[in-house]
Amino acid sequence: MSLPLNSFLKTLPIYQPGRPIEEVARELGLPADSIIKVASNENPFGPSPLAMAALQKAIPGVNLYPDGNAFYLKQKLAAKLGVETAHLVLGNGSNEIIEFVSHALLEPGTNIVVSQFCFAIYPIVAKMFGAGVLTVPAKNYGHDLPAMLQAITPKTRLVFVANPNNPTGTLAAREELIQFVNDVPDDVLLVMDEAYIEFLSDPVDLIPLIRLGARKNLILMRTFSKIYGLAGLRIGYGIAPPELAAALEKIRQPFNANLLAQSAALAALDDDDHVRKTRQNNFNGLDFFANAFRELKLEYVPSFANFILVRVGAGQQVFDAMQKLGVITRPMGGYQLPEWIRISIGTMAENERCLAALEKSL
Ligand code: PMP
Repeated sequence: MSLPLNSFLKTLPIYQPGRPIEEVARELGLPADSIIKVASNENPFGPSPLAMAALQKAIPGVNLYPDGNAFYLKQKLAAKLGVETAHLVLGNGSNEIIEFVSHALLEPGTNIVVSQFCFAIYPIVAKMFGAGVLTVPAKNYGHDLPAMLQAITPKTRLVFVANPNNPTGTLAAREELIQFVNDVPDDVLLVMDEAYIEFLSDPVDLIPLIRLGARKNLILMRTFSKIYGLAGLRIGYGIAPPELAAALEKIRQPFNANLLAQSAALAALDDDDHVRKTRQNNFNGLDFFANAFRELKLEYVPSFANFILVRVGAGQQVFDAMQKLGVITRPMGGYQLPEWIRISIGTMAENERCLAALEKSL
């Protein structure tokens, strides 16, 4: 007799991550250090040096469980963001916050509203909880916020908006976003995914709405995986009204944010130089690729994040050819964009190598 696995597992899509360098090196028989990975929107400068020093210091303490409530990290985040620690919930990556809100609000018969070309994890997690997924057609590869508002039904519990969006890099217009945040019905939780917010020069600041208690149905998600360069440690957080944060705290496993991750995140918050350098490099890299794609007459989506989507024709083939040249990008077939690949911004040397590989592979 086979195990009676939950029926939703039969049709649950599997998340396709960027390919790890070691795996590609093994497959192609190339040395790992000859390969560059521009597939998962990581920080090309590595972790913040302050975070690395903090990690070294923390290693002898890993026989002990971490502080489950992450006292120091919450204190520092609260001070930086201008909120109370009661507004914060830490996740094993911001991915885990997506699971928390789903635990809190989804069940069979409910649904979520997302945009076409949304981050792949939202629909996957919703389906895990037996909820339906209402997908609203994108507008110029970005969110059509008025249409998403229209799509909300009495069964809707969550609306997800990533701003900037992954994988398209689009940014919602300021006024339209503010209108949307205020118009989402009070009994629907708006999950604003701000994984890439630190790459913006002039972001819309939604924190006051939470600080002042103006929106009780809003949670912001942020991460240390992107600009802070700590993707491998898995740490992110939600900023939410205290009542919601308290509910999510009940769902959270006691030690979900590990000891090394907490130490590194704490130190990384002090490393303004690393953040500034990464942001500036990112602006330069986005310009570099936009100019190159215009010259090559390749369609691309103007990006506000640390990656760029470009239409190369046969996306999977171009991805394979570039990979053989030691450059790992991300094919977009899984996002119903088979003619596109997504390239994360690297150091300028990596960008140049990536572009040369792309030109050879077209
Ligand atoms: N949201 C978006 C839009 C993302 O692109 C990512 C990372 N790919 C995440 C959330 C999750 O990031 P993490 O779990 O590493 O914090």
